Amino acid sequence: MDWGYYAKPSKTFCQGMVNKQCSFPRGKVLGGSAVSNVMVYHRASPLDYDFWASSGNDGWSYKEVLPYFIKSERIQIDEYDHGYHGTNGPLRVNYTAPHSTVSEPFFRACEEKGLKRIDYNGKDTLGVSRVQFNINFNKRDNSAHAFLDPIIDIRSNLRVLLNAFAIKVLLKGSTAEGVEFVKDCKRYIVKARKEVILSSGSINSPQLLMVSGIGPREELNKHKIEVKNELPVGRHMKDHTMFFNLVFRSNEVAPNKTLRENLERYIKGETPLTNALGVENVAFINTKTPGKGLPDIELITSPPPLGVANKLQSILFFNFDSDVSKVFDGYNPLTDFSIYVVLLNPKSIGSVTLQSKNPIDFPVIDLNYFSDPNNEDIETMYQGVKYVLSLSKTRAFRDINATFIGHQLGCEDLKKNGSEREYWYCALRQFSTTIFHPMSTTRMGRSPKESVVDSKCLVHRTKNLRVVDAGVIPNIIRGHPNAPIYMIAEKISDEIKKYYGEL
Ligand SMILES: Cc1cc2nc3c(=O)[nH]c(=O)nc-3n(C[C@H](O)[C@H](O)[C@H](O)COP(=O)(O)OP(=O)(O)OC[C@H]3O[C@@H](n4cnc5c(N)ncnc54)[C@H](O)[C@@H]3O)c2cc1C
Repeated sequence: MDWGYYAKPSKTFCQGMVNKQCSFPRGKVLGGSAVSNVMVYHRASPLDYDFWASSGNDGWSYKEVLPYFIKSERIQIDEYDHGYHGTNGPLRVNYTAPHSTVSEPFFRACEEKGLKRIDYNGKDTLGVSRVQFNINFNKRDNSAHAFLDPIIDIRSNLRVLLNAFAIKVLLKGSTAEGVEFVKDCKRYIVKARKEVILSSGSINSPQLLMVSGIGPREELNKHKIEVKNELPVGRHMKDHTMFFNLVFRSNEVAPNKTLRENLERYIKGETPLTNALGVENVAFINTKTPGKGLPDIELITSPPPLGVANKLQSILFFNFDSDVSKVFDGYNPLTDFSIYVVLLNPKSIGSVTLQSKNPIDFPVIDLNYFSDPNNEDIETMYQGVKYVLSLSKTRAFRDINATFIGHQLGCEDLKKNGSEREYWYCALRQFSTTIFHPMSTTRMGRSPKESVVDSKCLVHRTKNLRVVDAGVIPNIIRGHPNAPIYMIAEKISDEIKKYYGEL
């Protein structure tokens, strides 16, 4: 169900991972990564979209994209900002239940620090909230369940082929004619009557374009691929970095239920078995101008009993070195909780390139975190860490004796001898990983020097070829990308219908 990618080894981050490589999961299933993700429903900041529009992408201001967010959504939460949410769309949005015992103390601690409770998909972008999930009571909701299942058997113009691997876009001159793919060890060609749309995600769409001859000249030359259209494919990847070794121990003890008890509660609809990887609350803060401006850091809480990564999970999921992952043995899953720090607007730029011209070979994913010349990214993360540590001084945290116990294995010497900043920089390089949000590898824009697709997601200088996935996002957004990708797909569907006179 997953491609099983690893990012390129690094010297500046993922230092706690085997071979200094972060694992990089991508869904290999109908519905893509939405089927195996954490289901956080977030639209990012309205100003992110206004920036898309002001940088030359007509039609993408927040005012213009909001109707498409609303169109796909079916909110099932009681209280939300009216005018921002949809109630009739296919995609459910809800909380998971029930609340953990450390949830309310976290809210109160944030309030003491000046944050208010908000609907983060509504009118405010700075504040604290429970996470809104794409969840349909006890079950996941996503691209496959919400959008495809209801129509897959009834649309005569839809045919889905499973286990079919696209290996090339067929180009005649500058026109896309179809796609070559492999299924059950046989090669097939499918011709397009109107156009070809790639939605292989921000890692695989660039790979497919490059092996087909659309990409940076030097990259294609390196692999002896004929250059059919020189475009900066794979060149502007940005991703959100996450630091997750900030662990607190409190007096609150999570109920330690047996499987039978949990099953009984599940059958009664209390949903204790359905917790989205332990994620519960979020806070969006601006570390430079507290209370004002756009968020630069997101905090995510993970309460007991899943609130701390265990050794096995850290090795299997994040690729932690088994020595480094010993740190997780010191945490108690029933009393300890984590607060993750996520960098929302990174300056560092990564890339997707080719290992070879063979489409079966995995692409090369260079995350390149913490590489910006002025160290802004790691410094903003450090400010986020300091914010989290300062929560232990709040009355709400003191009331439950929430004490910081996070151990930054491998950085101890710096704590003894070095500055506070050097210690945390070391910890950030050791324990930061991806939150799996690669974007902008085939980004939208006006100039073919800077971008790959235009504002209708059509590949520059190529006829009848579109890309519609996370890659087209012009610049990384301050939020989780899944909801914006549904929005992009809804909007481009209308563009296509309009173009062919069906809207
Ligand atoms: C573990 C994890 C947790 C995440 N959590 C969240 C979250 O909580 N909230 C959120 O908003 N986002 C989250 N994300 C990110 C989000 O899921 C992705 O950004 C989003 O799914 C990307 O959508 P996409 O359409 O661009 O690509 P994908 O969802 O990756 O879909 C691409 C599809 O194309 C298929 N494909 C690729 N190459 C080929 C080929 N050559 N031939 C045929 N098919 C091909 C793939 O198998 C896949 O089905 C998470 C991602 C991961 C991996």
